[in-house]
Amino acid sequence: NKTTVFCTELSQNGISRNQMKVMKFGGTSVGSPESLQLVKKIIEKETDPVIVVVSALDGITDRLLLAADFALNNNPAYKTLLEELIERHRNVISKTITSYEAKEETTQKAEQLFEELQNILRGVFLIGDLSQKTSDKIVIYDSAKFIKTNKQFNNHIPDLNKSNELIKKTFSEMPPPNVAIVPGFISSSIEENDITNIGRGGSDYTAAIIAAAMDATMLVIWTDVDGFMTADPKIINSAYVIDELSFTEAIELSNFGAKVIYPPTIFPVYHKNIPIYIKNTFSTESKGTLIKNIKPTRNGKIIKGISSISDTALITIQGLGMVGVTGVNKRIFTALADNGISVFIVSQASSENSTSIGVRTQDAKLAQKVLNKEFAHEIGMGSINEVLVEYDLATIAIVGQNMSHVPGIAGKFFGALGRNGI
Ligand code: ADP
Ligand code: MG
Repeated sequence: NKTTVFCTELSQNGISRNQMKVMKFGGTSVGSPESLQLVKKIIEKETDPVIVVVSALDGITDRLLLAADFALNNNPAYKTLLEELIERHRNVISKTITSYEAKEETTQKAEQLFEELQNILRGVFLIGDLSQKTSDKIVIYDSAKFIKTNKQFNNHIPDLNKSNELIKKTFSEMPPPNVAIVPGFISSSIEENDITNIGRGGSDYTAAIIAAAMDATMLVIWTDVDGFMTADPKIINSAYVIDELSFTEAIELSNFGAKVIYPPTIFPVYHKNIPIYIKNTFSTESKGTLIKNIKPTRNGKIIKGISSISDTALITIQGLGMVGVTGVNKRIFTALADNGISVFIVSQASSENSTSIGVRTQDAKLAQKVLNKEFAHEIGMGSINEVLVEYDLATIAIVGQNMSHVPGIAGKFFGALGRNGI
């Protein structure tokens, strides 16, 4: 098959790999006792050693955060949420684990964690205070011993050097049956050893970091769709699976909303030239998508896919006083970065009298506030206007690395929008 051919190609080019795979199973794949049986079958088929990264059961992280929010706002309904959540895990344990002893042991461990969680939430409910530290603790299943983070601008960013070292040490020996199962998403800080996490969708990232550290032959992302598709199948029902994508195309599509892969996932494996395979847990015979190093060509497919982000806000900093002044953009981006706000699109008018940036809606209010503060002096003098925010926008990206030498694509794109009155 394709992947085997690819790995042979690599070894012919003198790149050596550990004969092992990293597989990640998403929330729906581990969401029920029935789907867990499918996961088990997939792992059992493997002959090479495999490190399996699992997400929380489908929807659990949202529920945990909601329960924390209820508790914080003195809403006793948090208890019902918590009970449902505990019941769901008990059900999975009882339906999945067959050996009596293993069941007892797992139940005991799980009940301990449930109790800990109950105590934390009761504390939040009584005190009415939820620190970041407590919030991070609520969404853990297990402590992260080998994914280490640094704090940068209010975000926890994996420290790849430290994590690589610990991952290599942890998995240097994998006793038979050569399967290790680890939770995704969770990490701990280098400085205080506090529990942290590497962002929503972060299980993909955990798996990529491990694959890179271990020089694995491939990273397989098992999910609930047949592969990386030309568009989000939940929005465009005629979307179809893309056979192959380059790392760059995959990162562009995911950065602009293709949720099938968490964007930071691609870099660690790209860096080591480890292919990513997207596969469907519920339909293993489907071909899936292979993401690998592909050079742009003049006769390849021009457009690979379309993605979109619907919760976009556009922020505009504008003023005739900006023209010819050095350092305005530096101040804009520094102020935003200092507050942990990520910018995913930028455009500047040719006269330099306005800069527009696209941010997530959830970041827009804060962005407006910090920019108004940064330019308070200029706004007071009238050389820059009050910062303008436009809400309810969407960002659409058409992606394909071969389009860079092909004329007429932008024209076609805007033409299609124009004909449809957009
Ligand atoms: P998991 O829990 O396995 O990580 P996610 O829900 O994070 O799964 O990602 C899979 C979902 O991503 C799919 O169910 C699909 O709705 C959505 N998606 C968005 N864009 C794309 C795309 N271009 N191709 C495939 N899936 C997409
Ligand atoms: Mg995901």
